[in-house]
Amino acid sequence: MQTKTDVYTNVKQQFSNAADLMDLDPDVRKILAETKNEIIVHFPVKLDNGHVEMFAGYRVQHNDVLGPFKGGLRYHPSVNIEEVRALATWMTWKSAVVGLPFGGAKGGIQIDPANYTTAELERVTRRFTFALGDNIGPEYDIPAPDVNTNSQIMAWILDTYQSTISAKDRQSFSHIVTGKPVKSGGSMGRDKATAQGLIYVAERWAKNNDFDLKNAKYFVQGFGNVGSWTARLMKQNGSVLLAVEDADGAISNPQGIDADDLYEYVAAHGSVKGYGKAASISHQEFLSTKADIFVPAAMENQLTEETAPLLQVRLVAEGANGPTSIKGDAILAEKGIEVLPDILCNAGGVTVSYFEWLQNKRSEFWDLQEVDGKLYKKMIDAYDSVKYTATQYNTDWRTAAYVVALTRLEEVYKERGIFP
Ligand code: NAD
Repeated sequence: MQTKTDVYTNVKQQFSNAADLMDLDPDVRKILAETKNEIIVHFPVKLDNGHVEMFAGYRVQHNDVLGPFKGGLRYHPSVNIEEVRALATWMTWKSAVVGLPFGGAKGGIQIDPANYTTAELERVTRRFTFALGDNIGPEYDIPAPDVNTNSQIMAWILDTYQSTISAKDRQSFSHIVTGKPVKSGGSMGRDKATAQGLIYVAERWAKNNDFDLKNAKYFVQGFGNVGSWTARLMKQNGSVLLAVEDADGAISNPQGIDADDLYEYVAAHGSVKGYGKAASISHQEFLSTKADIFVPAAMENQLTEETAPLLQVRLVAEGANGPTSIKGDAILAEKGIEVLPDILCNAGGVTVSYFEWLQNKRSEFWDLQEVDGKLYKKMIDAYDSVKYTATQYNTDWRTAAYVVALTRLEEVYKERGIFP
């Protein structure tokens, strides 16, 4: 059985497959095979009961040759250095696939936020930001939301970071973090951006394959930011949601689940568990759902050699980072299941984070139509480059997406050379 720590092995294997295929420059290969900086901080936080607890926080910066380090912060008990390394590396590839002037980073805290009050989570976030100090910065390394972090947590990071800056410079540092609430300098459309990007890519795939998303059947793993927004946007396309799984269990209704109604239920109850308009099912039954599309939008390593054989779909659209293991990928290929890979399919989030960063730097505010229009163009351009590359190299879409990313990175290393 694969464990969480294997995700970094997955990334390295995916990287090697693409590097071999495209004959990546051996010097560039050596550089990209390593992370650049790895920061681990241990910091104390006073809990509501007056006692102090120590926490471990991570920030891994994989590469910044294309621009500042960029990537989310995750609050989860499984966070560890290997997982953060993998997630940071995927961010470098993702920014490069979409053609953003960003590098890759990721961070997080090993914590189960469900065990802490809001006031405690605020203090944890502020102490973590303070402990990271100059290891993050608006032109250096810019965090964003990920699993169990949201716009409120980004607002606390912004406020803490700005408090450490001299008063006269404070206002020019609002791009220290993206995914902020709109009134605190966030962008319109950032909340739904990852899902919206996934939808643009899925619509393009449907058009290319003469496939009608209206009445198409699909199911989603994870009903947080990415999963719930995907379901609510798929509803607008007339697709039918058959099943949903989150950390507390899975539910199914062959007649369809109303994504907006489920969203309201989860907002009130914290989970899909107990939703009255669907039946509770097992993890195995969930993965065996007969449908057209499966959207993993939770954690890594969900489609492995044990679970990939269960899938009965035509397409996997990866909302999560790293949901498919190397062996899982091989099984999906054998079964003829197409995969829209994470570094392409979920790149909408970092793309609108880039738009937020730009708006902050320029003191601009774009409306939703402008954000969505620009996101659409970025996603479609990336989709078309990956499709073209898959044909050129006669390879799968994941490897093709890596080739697109690595080609951009290789070109820049060749132009700039190595100091000294
Ligand atoms: P989130 O915290 O908002 O939601 C996570 C969801 O996954 C929750 O519904 C949770 O219950 C569920 N979940 C957790 N463990 C599970 C398990 N073992 N089985 C089933 N469900 C489980 O997080 P999110 O921001 O939606 O992120 C989801 C995935 O998308 C992650 O892989 C993340 O890295 C990736 N991603 C997020 C963004 C973003 O903008 N938020 C961007 C790109 C990629």
